[in-house]
Amino acid sequence: MFRSGLSRFSRYRGRRARFEHDPQDEAGLDVRLDRLCSAADSLGLETPQALLSHLAARGLTGQLPRLSACLTALEQAEGPLAPGQFGRDLPFDSLNLLERALDDDLAIPDFSHFAHRLGGFFAYAQENRRGQIADYIPELAHQEADGFGLALCSIDGQRFSLGEAQTAFCLQSVVKPLNYALALALNGENLVHAHVGREPSGRRFNELALDPDYRPHNPMINAGAIMCASLIRPAQPPRDRAELIRRFVMSAAGGAACTLDEAVYQSELATADRNRALVKMMDEHDAFPPGTDTRAALDVYFRACALSLDCEALSVVAAMLANGGVCPVTGHRVIDPMIVRHTLSLMLTCGMYDYSGEFAFTVGLPAKSGVSGGLMIVIPGVGGLGLWSPRLDRQGNSVRGVEFCQRLVEDYPFHIFAGVASD
Ligand code: GLU
Repeated sequence: MFRSGLSRFSRYRGRRARFEHDPQDEAGLDVRLDRLCSAADSLGLETPQALLSHLAARGLTGQLPRLSACLTALEQAEGPLAPGQFGRDLPFDSLNLLERALDDDLAIPDFSHFAHRLGGFFAYAQENRRGQIADYIPELAHQEADGFGLALCSIDGQRFSLGEAQTAFCLQSVVKPLNYALALALNGENLVHAHVGREPSGRRFNELALDPDYRPHNPMINAGAIMCASLIRPAQPPRDRAELIRRFVMSAAGGAACTLDEAVYQSELATADRNRALVKMMDEHDAFPPGTDTRAALDVYFRACALSLDCEALSVVAAMLANGGVCPVTGHRVIDPMIVRHTLSLMLTCGMYDYSGEFAFTVGLPAKSGVSGGLMIVIPGVGGLGLWSPRLDRQGNSVRGVEFCQRLVEDYPFHIFAGVASD
């Protein structure tokens, strides 16, 4: 039953990332636009408006910067669908996307049905009011306990959201994968991993513990994230370093708003004893690169944790990772593919606090949660999800977030090893 249940969705398996220059048709723009109009016609889409509804039903809307000029041109066009109505200078990657939408070859093929199913999982998780809001950072206690938002973005930029998906929340630990990716991009793997390990710690995220080489266990726990922050442009003032992280997060989110929540930042500074103790412990063991200004590193870390995004923007970050580092809404490369691979590996093994092993076993997806109730879930080669619901379980993960993920992989073959267990 398990097998036949999953085989219905076999089209999701084995998809590869959509890189900037997908090998595509060599034909020129005019020929391809002609073909596109004929394909639309054969589907009964005789007007620009009919084509727009077809695209919207597949999750392709003006929320996609790389398609928005073309969609606006189509909205303004009149009469039967014609090659001249797609706007000037239609980029090839937008054309590829339109072709795939008409060929029924998008990352999420049955989008309306998929969105409907997601709605069911969301409603199910929403019933759950268990768990507590984190209050050890006092400002976090002001979050709305029953707030719940979810957004999806596929590697083709198909988008869908539910609940409070446009409510910004502070990322807290959800920023750690990006903090790590940026440290890698600026320093290379050898330097970064001379100072931070890549092994689950098996302890709480802020435990006073180092690995046998006196390095923090991995970049997804506090000590490791502070270490990564220490490696981001160490010669510059903390404010500038944090601004670089903010801009990196923004480009990962396709240009969506990302702001520093000043109240959370101040609240964290005022209650930072444990993180200061982590720094002292690392200092005692000479874990930092020589000459590190550890106060500055901690400040950069706090500012990074206080960055805010909404679920819609977070889903784009997750989809960028699912797409090998190319942001699906802008088409721009944000991260090198090997850095994405490293980041996803550590999200899979260390991203869900002390529940990481269980989560890898039961859900089998790279994810990162934070104490604000944020959760970023990556479905490699398919897309990403951004979720926010502040009630946490005893491991510190969003209760509804974990529940939602469990439902998702019961119905869809997204567990990274699903392929070996289905026909
Ligand atoms: N800024 C939080 C801290 O340092 C992050 C904790 C988390 O989200 O895991 O405690």
